[in-house]
Amino acid sequence: MPIRRRTALRITLIAALVMAVGPVLLAVFLAREQGLSQEYARATALVQEIIYRSDRAVAQMQESLEIMAAGSFGSACSDAMLARMQQLGLAMEYVDALGYVENERILCSSMGRHAEPLLLDATAIPTVNDHELRLDVRFDIDPDPSRVFNVLSSDRYAVLASSEQAIDLGMVDQGLVLATFIPQSGQVRISRGELNPAWIPRLGEQRQQQFVDDGYIVVIMRSSQVQMTAALAAIPVASLNQQVREFMVLLLPVGLLAGVVLTMLVLSLARQRLSMTAEIRLALKRNEFFLVYQPIVDLASGHWVGAEALLRWRRQDGEITMPDTFIPMAEQSGLIGLITARVIELATQDMSALIRRYPQFRLSLNLSANDLQAQEIMAQLRRLSLVSAAQPRQIMVELTERILLNPEQANSNIQTLRQHGIQVAIDDFGTGYSSLSYLEKMQVDCLKIDRLFVEAIDTEAATNRVVLHIIDMARTLGITLVAEGVETAAQADFLRQHGVAWAQGWLYARPMAAQQLGQLFAVNAYDATVPRP
Ligand code: C2E
Ligand code: CA
Ligand code: CA
Repeated sequence: MPIRRRTALRITLIAALVMAVGPVLLAVFLAREQGLSQEYARATALVQEIIYRSDRAVAQMQESLEIMAAGSFGSACSDAMLARMQQLGLAMEYVDALGYVENERILCSSMGRHAEPLLLDATAIPTVNDHELRLDVRFDIDPDPSRVFNVLSSDRYAVLASSEQAIDLGMVDQGLVLATFIPQSGQVRISRGELNPAWIPRLGEQRQQQFVDDGYIVVIMRSSQVQMTAALAAIPVASLNQQVREFMVLLLPVGLLAGVVLTMLVLSLARQRLSMTAEIRLALKRNEFFLVYQPIVDLASGHWVGAEALLRWRRQDGEITMPDTFIPMAEQSGLIGLITARVIELATQDMSALIRRYPQFRLSLNLSANDLQAQEIMAQLRRLSLVSAAQPRQIMVELTERILLNPEQANSNIQTLRQHGIQVAIDDFGTGYSSLSYLEKMQVDCLKIDRLFVEAIDTEAATNRVVLHIIDMARTLGITLVAEGVETAAQADFLRQHGVAWAQGWLYARPMAAQQLGQLFAVNAYDATVPRP
């Protein structure tokens, strides 16, 4: 297999693979992104709930202390004081008990008069209003002695709130980690689940922080109300993976289907292309290409001055394929050199006699951008000149504006051609990349005004003015103009009036066989300088 075809096949397969796998990978990626943002949202909601509860608890504890301080109950631990404490304990949702304090001892509380005073021995953390906060306090007369309390106290009263309640969100375990902590010190108030202590410092001075670490999606946030509160929620990534799997079950079939469809599309396009190049090779071998010739006419006199060779492909079944369908394919697959070589060969056979007989006759050949680099093409063009004994200027090549993409290279090639007495035309002028400044440097002999602009002549289209511009420019640079695709007398009149020299189009003649051109040329080329046969 030739290298070119092998690379083409390899590229095709890679493209097909990318198309099959790409959508699936994209689906998985999207599923993960989607899952991640969902889990972050869930963790954020949990953290917000914890902070809300914790803030409410602090507010109610402070309020309870203020209410007690404002009351007067006769002596310490009087019935009135106990009754008030019990009443507040019931009224405040987050407050579990209140107590009366002397010398950091709770002497009595909403739970009754204590036999032994409860010593507040846990380390106190000062808070606002000279209050002190203690964490992890146990209260031995509590009916549930395993309960741990946060205790907020003034010098006379203490309020107890179960530490658990901020994080007691009533959620079944699910491997969740929940915690509240004091952001200044990093001290954990209460936690549940496998809290990784390294997470807490990551909040730093920020209001909120989120990250994936140690198999968990972690969200940490500080309270905007209570300086001393921050909370953390962590959701195991395993639960995200579960979600991604569920998502994938939905997306994967769609992704796979898209992949398969795209792959089939790529493969069928590639097969078409491969078979087209194979067909072109075969057509060259079987000699299925031939040329037709479209006359080029002098606008002023109506006399024929030359012809453009146009390629045709007669398939084995007799069907004629037009160049627009196979030339681009040949250019892409690198076969254009072989085709151009065949064109020059055919033109040499067809036109040598005509060229010799009519020294005014100008034969125009289409070249592709790549052809300019090929030594053989240059050699063949010279051979055509020799065989037909062409005068200088009798052979012209048409180049599209695409060659001007590399102006330096193009210019040197063009000048080489011209040194060999071959004329150079820019084909389809106005549709491509040309700019005036290029043209000035290029020194071409001829510009072919594209059919688009000729069509626009009878209309009001804006392209209509472009023709005048092109005509102006060509006159300044001394370049001969050929108008392509002239179909109406009105177009011809307009072009003639504006000084365009030559034209080509159905108004004069369609492309025809070489033999027919020979016959008709004898009739139509007559002028003083051309001998009648
Ligand atoms: P092009 O060089 O611009 O050739 C002019 C095209 O316009 C030809 O089509 C011709 O048949 C068509 N044409 C001529 N007069 C009229 C008209 O009055 N009205 C309309 N609507 N069309 C008109 P064709 O022969 O199908 O060639 C198409 C293109 O294929 C050519 O455009 C040229 O770019 C390319 N081509 C043709 N032969 C060759 C060749 O031997 N080598 C290379 N590299 N390209 C070729
Ligand atoms: Ca042409
Ligand atoms: Ca053209």
